Amino acid sequence: MDPGRQLALDAGGADFLVDTANVVRATELTDGRPAHLERLTLLCEALAGFARDESAQVYAVVDRTLLSDPHLSPAERATLARWAAEGRVEVLPWADPRLLELAHALDMPVVSRDNYVDFHRRYPWIPGNTDTFLLPVPDAGGRGVAVVPRIMPVVEEARISLKEEQNELHAVGLHDRRGSGVRERVFRRSWHCPEPGCRLFGPDARAAAPMPGYRQGVPRCPEHAAPLADAGPAPARVLAKIRVDGVLRTRFTVVEGDLVTVGRFPDGPGRIALFPWLEEGVRRLISRDHLRVTVRGGALRVSDTSHNGSTVRRRDAPPVPLRPGREWTLRPGQVVELYEGVELLLSGRRYTLAPDDGERDPHPPPRPEDSAPTMLRPPDPAGGASGGIRGPGPGGGRKPGRRRRRR
Ligand SMILES: [Zn+2]
Repeated sequence: MDPGRQLALDAGGADFLVDTANVVRATELTDGRPAHLERLTLLCEALAGFARDESAQVYAVVDRTLLSDPHLSPAERATLARWAAEGRVEVLPWADPRLLELAHALDMPVVSRDNYVDFHRRYPWIPGNTDTFLLPVPDAGGRGVAVVPRIMPVVEEARISLKEEQNELHAVGLHDRRGSGVRERVFRRSWHCPEPGCRLFGPDARAAAPMPGYRQGVPRCPEHAAPLADAGPAPARVLAKIRVDGVLRTRFTVVEGDLVTVGRFPDGPGRIALFPWLEEGVRRLISRDHLRVTVRGGALRVSDTSHNGSTVRRRDAPPVPLRPGREWTLRPGQVVELYEGVELLLSGRRYTLAPDDGERDPHPPPRPEDSAPTMLRPPDPAGGASGGIRGPGPGGGRKPGRRRRRR
């Protein structure tokens, strides 16, 4: 059977979306060949059976690399190229964003083995989803293909960050998906740009400058494209982030030896002002200088300088108040809570790509009351300690969204 007639010319008229390269390279499906175009044909048959409709239409999105995959025969590559020319498959450098965009917009099932972890933040309906994704599996006879509904995994936030980071590193040439992984050497050194007055890698550049690009085997200035000179070992840096009511507001880099002040409206350099993200009632319960953050020995150290105090939540232990004057070494999985829902934590990212790459709201200008003294928190009638605890724990804050879908 030629699946050509089942391949839809436009997504709007299709019944299923297919992550084509993912299916064609699914070695568990048939004979174990690293890539086999027949798997797409068998999948189309399986989908017609699944839909109980011989004419079920499939919209196939294809990663461009599949068209030159050496594991396909010349005849298979020619067939793919013909389908692409006829508009029966959509060919893109990376199929995933397009597939999910279509699934989201058209409410259509996706056939893939991929968990799409790097898209869980953009599409909060993916983790835990039970009705949008189908898994191709060998059929009972072992010669064909069947499809079964999938439950998408709920992945820890730090793993999502790492996956997103890999994609960003890949885009600037600092991550090699097939080879060595992250080009660590680039991150362990400081770099200088030969261009006079370079904003990013000049002599006055901040230590938390963005990472260089990487092309033709050398790190390069992203602005001037010039090869960068090695200026010695880089100081330790740690990435932290601010989350307010479960929403990531900003990430910032703390460099060994620097002091960063986090608060409602701190003074001086190296400050993270929280006031734009705080609700009216919360603003004045957060002190202007609430926390001081430094890096020593490669670890993030936090101390409280506030009126109302902060609390450290831990994964497997009771929360502890952060006592004034005492430094706390923040570990992965721990969260410093400045007030319910206002949190400082370590980023799952290991590398600085930009000095500040959080999703920021446009900052409204501060108002006089933002620099006013902090209001003392009224005593808790329930008798709880300062810094009431809520939320499902360090990874949480936001329940995995689950979109109900019509089928
Ligand atoms: Zn430069």
